[in-house]
Amino acid sequence: MPESVNDLLARAAALDAADELSTHRAAFVHVDEVRAYLDGNSLGRPLRRTRESLASFVDEVWATRLIRAWDEGWFDTPTELGDTIGRVALGAATGQTVVADSTTVLIYKLLRAAVDARPGRDEVVLDTDNFPTDRFVAEGVAAERGLTLRWITPGPDGVTPELVHDVVGPRTAVVLLSQVDFRSAQLADLPGITAVAHDAGALAMWDLSHSAGVVPVDLDRHGVDLAVGCTYKYLNGGPGAPAFAYLAARHHDILRQPVQGWMGAADPFAMGDRYEPAPGVRQLVSGTPPVVGMLAMRDMLALLDVAGLDAVRAKSVALTEFAIEVHDALLAPRGVTLASPRDASVRGGHVTLEHDDFSRVVPELWRQGVIPDFRPPRGLRVGLSPLSTSFREVLTGLRAVADEVDA
Ligand SMILES: *Cc1c(COP(=O)(O)O)cnc(C)c1O
Repeated sequence: MPESVNDLLARAAALDAADELSTHRAAFVHVDEVRAYLDGNSLGRPLRRTRESLASFVDEVWATRLIRAWDEGWFDTPTELGDTIGRVALGAATGQTVVADSTTVLIYKLLRAAVDARPGRDEVVLDTDNFPTDRFVAEGVAAERGLTLRWITPGPDGVTPELVHDVVGPRTAVVLLSQVDFRSAQLADLPGITAVAHDAGALAMWDLSHSAGVVPVDLDRHGVDLAVGCTYKYLNGGPGAPAFAYLAARHHDILRQPVQGWMGAADPFAMGDRYEPAPGVRQLVSGTPPVVGMLAMRDMLALLDVAGLDAVRAKSVALTEFAIEVHDALLAPRGVTLASPRDASVRGGHVTLEHDDFSRVVPELWRQGVIPDFRPPRGLRVGLSPLSTSFREVLTGLRAVADEVDA
């Protein structure tokens, strides 16, 4: 006997009452018109304190310190903020993470650096389901460097160590994958695949765009070589906030990224004749740091630090479990199917549902203030940012989906 709407309302209320992180919801800006925000995996909500951070930045820092602020901290923002992301979200010791550019540009810089660091190897292993920008940048790097792309077609369990094992070999320079699949939320075996890449003598590079801030990642412990990721998703940095890049310390003296800019040079203000890379991870920086774009994510990182990433992951699992429960009760009888793993241990922070009507349904939901996103051909993505989302909100949103599928 499937659960009734009344059963589900009671379940949502009980889950919200038991949720130790529920008080943090009030830290975010909520507006009445938005009845259910189901896309925190694409653009996190703003924090209330970010209003104050932006205003005080204008008055107290930008207007007051002016150019002096470069010496008083702005110059170091890429590595200082990178260290914070590394500590709070990535399991990365200091001195290995920077904030700069977009994810797309950082994929280019890191992938180029990685393939050049493996002379004699001319293949990059990647998968056909990865986010378009990752695949497009890899195509460009391959064309530039005369490399061959070796494509993995993910199976029902996504990209597994076995599938990677089948294609890596003495020609593999780099294995480039996403930890959480942007469509299905399938969580790849990052430690297992990293080990397979290393056994073949290749470098392992991970896109953590859908992991950072929601799925704990232990980059140092698992020996990952390079990683990139977005900060406007679960790190709530705001639209266009700069991305992060991780480069393991053991590679700092070997890898060279191709966009050699003055801000990543050893002595930027010497205005020297030749480029000499800055020591350590600083060389990943190319141009002037986007300081304004770094403000909002600092507020979210401070909140994540207080809440603790393990607790955030536990709530994320509970939210996606509940979304699946509501799917089974209200949506499956209407022909909707689940396109994400049922096993929470291999599922990231979102759930994808499929139905032929979703391309019609999603714009109508947006008009009603219920905001998931649509991923062609027939996917509706339900992204549940743990600190800003209640169980009640999940139910409100998915009930609206059920009503629209019927309409
Ligand atoms: C969101 C996302 C991106 C976005 O890259 P931008 O340069 O910020 O546009 C890249 N890769 C993956 C896997 C993503 O999920």
